[in-house]
Amino acid sequence: MGADLWWKKAAGRLLDLLYPPPPSCGLCGRNIAAGFRERTSVSLCPACAAKFCFLSGSICRVCGRLWTEGDVCGDCARRPDTFFVFSRSAVAYNHAMKEYMARYKYRGDRKLAGMMAGFLPQIWKRYYAGEQIDWITYIPLHAERLRERTFNQAEEVARLLGSVVGVPVAGLLVRKRATEKQSRRTRYGRLHAMENVFSYCPEAGWGVPDSSAPCRIVIVDDVYTTGSTLNEAAHALKAGLPGADVYGLTVAR
Ligand SMILES: [Zn+2]
Ligand SMILES: [Zn+2]
Repeated sequence: MGADLWWKKAAGRLLDLLYPPPPSCGLCGRNIAAGFRERTSVSLCPACAAKFCFLSGSICRVCGRLWTEGDVCGDCARRPDTFFVFSRSAVAYNHAMKEYMARYKYRGDRKLAGMMAGFLPQIWKRYYAGEQIDWITYIPLHAERLRERTFNQAEEVARLLGSVVGVPVAGLLVRKRATEKQSRRTRYGRLHAMENVFSYCPEAGWGVPDSSAPCRIVIVDDVYTTGSTLNEAAHALKAGLPGADVYGLTVAR
């Protein structure tokens, strides 16, 4: 490298240290003004952030949906057994989110992983920072589906979140059978299709000293639909770790 070029690079690095470049939008790549980033804490520019509907206001204490008619929503009140303490989601599963989720999940646009995970630290800070969470885990894909898609979007988002909030991430569940898309089923079908789908199977090297010891685990997924996926995953987790309190966290709902 010529001395001239070396100097230019070194000076550039020094300038970056002194004046960090503004972070760029996870969707369009435009720079984000510092003030906006501080207000929202997501890696999106104002124009892109406006496409999403952030969930805030009065919510169901259990599933986190927007709910003003009391403490617990109708779905949660009707569920015979709830195995998670509570679940929270960052944004509504609106048109923009559906589109990005499909681009990420089914068309394998993995650049979007950071954008998806970028919605979560804010929610984490609000609901989980005070809960002393020991582990983050994620909803597993069936082995066959994982081969097709080559990556598990829930695991990617969970690992990115874990590195930001400083909580260890471990694969603790396996999916015993592939399930068809939730959206293709009737409500009744959705509520029952997930029964007995998961089992507790911690990844190699995950050292848990005593399975009955109390611990707190957050299960990360991309979308919360009826809560039956999260509930069954929490059920399976508690079968293997009877001392665990299980929580849910999804990007959208
Ligand atoms: Zn943007
Ligand atoms: Zn609810």
